[in-house]
Amino acid sequence: MINIQKIKQDFPILSQKIYGKELVYLDNGATTQKPIQVIEKLKSFYSEINSNIHRGVHYLSNKSTEEYENARKTVKEFINAKSTKEIIFTKGTTEAINLVAFSFGETFINEGDEILVSQTEHHSNIVPWQMMCKRKGAKLVVIPAKANGELDLEKYKLLLNSRTKLVAVAHVSNSLGIINSVKEIIDEAHKVGAKVLIDGAQAIQHLKIDVQNLNCDFYTFSGHKIYAETGIGVLFGKEETLNQLSPYQGGGDMIKTVSFEKTEYADLPFKFEAGTANYVGAVSIAEAIKYLNNIGLQEIENHEKELIDYATEKLLEIEGLKIIGTSKHKTSAISFVLEGIHHYDAGLILDKLGIAVRTGTHCAEPTMKHFGITGTIRASFAIYNTKEDIDKLVLGINKVKLMFG
Ligand code: PMP
Repeated sequence: MINIQKIKQDFPILSQKIYGKELVYLDNGATTQKPIQVIEKLKSFYSEINSNIHRGVHYLSNKSTEEYENARKTVKEFINAKSTKEIIFTKGTTEAINLVAFSFGETFINEGDEILVSQTEHHSNIVPWQMMCKRKGAKLVVIPAKANGELDLEKYKLLLNSRTKLVAVAHVSNSLGIINSVKEIIDEAHKVGAKVLIDGAQAIQHLKIDVQNLNCDFYTFSGHKIYAETGIGVLFGKEETLNQLSPYQGGGDMIKTVSFEKTEYADLPFKFEAGTANYVGAVSIAEAIKYLNNIGLQEIENHEKELIDYATEKLLEIEGLKIIGTSKHKTSAISFVLEGIHHYDAGLILDKLGIAVRTGTHCAEPTMKHFGITGTIRASFAIYNTKEDIDKLVLGINKVKLMFG
């Protein structure tokens, strides 16, 4: 059995009071807090190991490089990639998607080709494709969502055709918490020869990911949402596909030889890692993964499922509260609106009660448009949240309602 009180003690930030109230942190979809194990690792890395990677012959540089490359192995095993060549460190999910949009676009996209994204994507999984379509004269096609926020797979299948070159969808929607049927989406796309990118920014910290089983061509996530540092993320890509793509950025570390006449690029994964990588961030991801593995991924999934079910039940008891995205397939985020109360006002009052939630469009304006709303209040959970946190949220919402009469 998972011991949440013990886990909570691993996160120093959670023990503080906000406006004299115990902090209830329910903004984990935006970023997660960091366990002491990750914080200590950063401290010891900077105190004992730090030196630039891949370049030096000296002891510290070799040690740094070893930690960085071990982090790549840890990530490879965590998502069950075939090879470390398939693990590219990026700044985050956004950069990983931009990398694919650029490099895949340069290599494979021609005028008239189609890229499919869904109605419920984060802006990070819309705008890079729009930019690519503009550059290449391709067309962005939208997979519609149903009234409950699930993607309409029947309509999706009808949209697929020989012009479809890539499908990009979130594994879990950040604004609704809905788990998309990515396996089916991937299998269907492959039938027409399209590649698939899965944006795993909201899935990696909640669900066991196996990229071989999913058979996706690309998978992306951010360190800061999985209990590690900001400014680091991961792009998984199938080796064969990555090998075909042109590089995203030029610079140090991504080359074999350079002359003014011709540059030869480095092999994978370095071809896509120009400049000094955020090697400390990568090490923090490895430490965070170690931390999660120690707790047990299945335990985490079970605990968070319990939280979302409990939150759904309790929130639905509140009169005038409407949940946005009512699919049963959800994890760790719940979005709602309160009748007659602006989400921003509700968020401000909850904050004064020590409860951190996110309000607004959640970088998903097309999702809000789909539901005909200007924004929601989103509570998003992590391993350290408890049912008591949800009870406090419910009490807080009732206070908000009282204040607004
Ligand atoms: N996709 C999804 C589904 C997200 O939730 C986020 C972050 N909110 C992103 C992409 C972008 O992640 P980052 O800002 O870490 O690059």
